[in-house]
Amino acid sequence: MGFHPHQRLMTNKYDFDPVCGMPVGPDAPSSRFMGFTFRFCSGQCRQRFEEHPHLYVGRPGVPAPRQRGETLPKRRCFNLAAIPSPEQAAAVREAVGALMGIYECQVEGRSVWVSYDLLQSTARQIEDAIAGTGAALDDALPARLSRAVLHYLEETELANREHDLDGGGHHH
Ligand SMILES: [Zn+2]
Repeated sequence: MGFHPHQRLMTNKYDFDPVCGMPVGPDAPSSRFMGFTFRFCSGQCRQRFEEHPHLYVGRPGVPAPRQRGETLPKRRCFNLAAIPSPEQAAAVREAVGALMGIYECQVEGRSVWVSYDLLQSTARQIEDAIAGTGAALDDALPARLSRAVLHYLEETELANREHDLDGGGHHH
């Protein structure tokens, strides 16, 4: 679908979720930013927006990465504490697949392989979706540490990408 942000800004409301591009109704979850009301298909997209709004609305004279169709594709493995039953594996695939920005989700033994767009979904949100099915993530210390590092790296990548929109792509 086409993106016409200026037209929407003039009407002081978004008819499309600025994170995933889905059409949204007047009762959708919303967030105020720079005097405008933005609406979202889900709490997931609202969270992405509120943490790094400029990735989705840009800055003056600089279109947002999402408006340009940019993606930050990732492929990661999330290890479960135990091999899931076929029913549990199906529930995990369904819950992760229901998130926005998921390209693929496969369960192989204890491993949940997920390909996703970091601009729409984060490892933390994927882990929350997995945990929401009742499947436990590997809670051994090395696994917990690697998840913490991954959260930090993703947050840093998003913050740097948002900062780059200030112009010139320079880093401080
Ligand atoms: Zn959305």
